[in-house]
Amino acid sequence: AINPLNTLAIAVEAEPGARILPRAAGLDDALFETDGQITKREIRALTLSALAPRPGECLVDIGAGSGSVAIEWMLADRRCRAIAIEPRGDRAARIRANAAAFGVPGLDVVEGAAPDALAGVPEADAVFVGGGLSRPGVLAAALDLVRAGGRLVANAVTLETERVLLGAHEERGGRLIRIAIDRAAPLAGMTAWEPARPVLQWSWTK
Ligand code: SAH
Repeated sequence: AINPLNTLAIAVEAEPGARILPRAAGLDDALFETDGQITKREIRALTLSALAPRPGECLVDIGAGSGSVAIEWMLADRRCRAIAIEPRGDRAARIRANAAAFGVPGLDVVEGAAPDALAGVPEADAVFVGGGLSRPGVLAAALDLVRAGGRLVANAVTLETERVLLGAHEERGGRLIRIAIDRAAPLAGMTAWEPARPVLQWSWTK
């Protein structure tokens, strides 16, 4: 039988050389339950753009925090799957709660720290590193997880993790961008720009 919902679906297997086109993302931070550890909306939009979810693909989100990146990945298409890696129990629980609230309860949460927690995780179409980059072996393990032709995206805020990404870019190429976002916010009865910490983002295709 033909599922009418599937008749317009994009093939999961792309032709060699096919362009992988991202769709817009970047939900309001306030929609997520968070303890403050969340990839901010504008940064998240650019992160999802670089991750470029496609129907049926699987993401591994390392350092998932509140789960916002994995959740937006799953919202891109109902066939998208994701595995969130997060060592803190309170955050792992929050990721599950957010996933349920967004209607993507299939989000798989692995409670543990990379690289050890990645041991049993299957190869993925895309891997995002939003935490744990300063830990030796995490980027190498993340790179190993990416299938041939898949994407890796990593965000750095500290000088220590920036150094890891600068080294990776030097060694493997890819795309390096620096994202600086200012938001208008109240200040003494007026409005002023509130700068967020700039994020260095490295994207690479295997
Ligand atoms: N992208 C997330 C925010 C990430 S904050 C979101 O949008 O919600 C970084 C997270 O990385 C924190 O929750 C922290 O607990 C986690 N982390 C730190 N070290 C880690 C490691 N070695 N492996 C996996 N996660 C780690």
